[in-house]
Amino acid sequence: MWRPSRYNFAVRGIDDEVVLFNASTGSVLKIDGVDAKELARVLMEPRLELSSVDFDAQFSVQLKRGGFVVDGGSDELLLIRERYWRARGETPVVLTLTTTMDCNLGCYYCYEERSPSKLKFGDIESIVDLAKRLVSASKRHALHVDWYGGEPLLNLDFLELASKALQAYCSGAGINYVASLISNGTQWPSDIEDFVSRNRIYQAQISFDGLQENHDKRRHFRKGHKQLGDSSFCQAVKLVDRLVNCAKVHVRFNIDRDNQGDLIPFIRLARARGWFGAAFPIIFQPARLATYSSKVKFMRNYELSVDEYEALCGQARNEVGSEGRVEDSQAPNGFPLPRTSVCAALATNSIVVGADGLKYRCGLQVGENHRAVGVIESRQIEKTGVELPATDASWWDAFDPTRAPNCSRCSFLPICWGGCPKKHLEGDQHALSEQGQYWRQNLLRFIGRAANIEVPAETIIPESLQFR
Ligand code: SF4
Ligand code: SF4
Repeated sequence: MWRPSRYNFAVRGIDDEVVLFNASTGSVLKIDGVDAKELARVLMEPRLELSSVDFDAQFSVQLKRGGFVVDGGSDELLLIRERYWRARGETPVVLTLTTTMDCNLGCYYCYEERSPSKLKFGDIESIVDLAKRLVSASKRHALHVDWYGGEPLLNLDFLELASKALQAYCSGAGINYVASLISNGTQWPSDIEDFVSRNRIYQAQISFDGLQENHDKRRHFRKGHKQLGDSSFCQAVKLVDRLVNCAKVHVRFNIDRDNQGDLIPFIRLARARGWFGAAFPIIFQPARLATYSSKVKFMRNYELSVDEYEALCGQARNEVGSEGRVEDSQAPNGFPLPRTSVCAALATNSIVVGADGLKYRCGLQVGENHRAVGVIESRQIEKTGVELPATDASWWDAFDPTRAPNCSRCSFLPICWGGCPKKHLEGDQHALSEQGQYWRQNLLRFIGRAANIEVPAETIIPESLQFR
């Protein structure tokens, strides 16, 4: 006997056409005819018993192969759990290095504590040892270093020397080395192209908070960090002008209630400057400014709702059209593929080193000492006052969304995997319920887009189908 998969969804097309989607396999199947809608209804009922003789032979094969029907005794959740744990072990090694907690700009929503902490030359040996251990445990031959801050380029000398040491280790051991960087775009050395090349930076994320007026107001130079030359907006724009010729650039556009009107004019500015048609065309990433951390709870007053944000992303996609790529953080390829990788915080062999030498699972925790999961060797003695290992380490090791009370019975699980694990750790119910809302609101539109079907904005998936 068979039964319908609990991860089936259906989008109605014109006339008798229905598009089926299975969130566990990512399969899409178009059906039509007088029985199509009734069949789609049946396939949404995972408790029904079906038999291959209910369908013609060829169609049975299509349903089975696409995962729309499964054997009566099979455990679909178990398959997702196995996939999740495989991904945790296999996700590439990312070593995130917070060169400094300092930043020259003061953004109103920034959750990070400014402190004099920074990584020092004396930490480099421990960091290279850590990289060796991570790479060797992963059994992979690749290392990805992500330079992070504060503003990582405020500790440029450390970055250059640590980069050299890490590259030397990798080339000696036959390990493939790449680096990326997250920056506000104002502290770069003048030899941008050489800097990118000697530090093997294949990708940089440069953030904007609007057009010049909003950006400069929101990203003002902090006390003790004098503005030298151009405003923060002009410096970041001029940097992207050059970066698009030598590295992959993610242009992140932070949106909230007050700067949303800048989104489309900003895309037009990017087009006018040739960023979409450059040697390395930018990837445009609209990002919703939200309450990332309990320290910025006031953000609730400024953040856009999930619906408002999604409507703006739709406008951005229309404006960019086929000229470039707009990346949505939940469905980066514009299609809800079943997840096969985890964020760096869950990857067994990835770690974040804070500017204080403490190790964290997630970059957004840097500076929250009580969330640390370890310390690099060069800081062991210094840190005896900090209670380590923290209880969080075992929480991260054990986190499994397929066992979480809500996620385990949710039909979005294979494409969501519980969303951001940090939100689970912090018990942030608001953010977790927004995650479900996001998929109820958008999944059918993603499927529709892939199948060339216009899904009206008001069509949403009811909660009864999410938890069927
Ligand atoms: S939508 Fe919500 S309940 Fe479903 S898997 Fe994601 S976080 Fe869990
Ligand atoms: S825990 Fe959340 S914020 Fe941290 S890396 Fe993972 S998804 Fe991102």
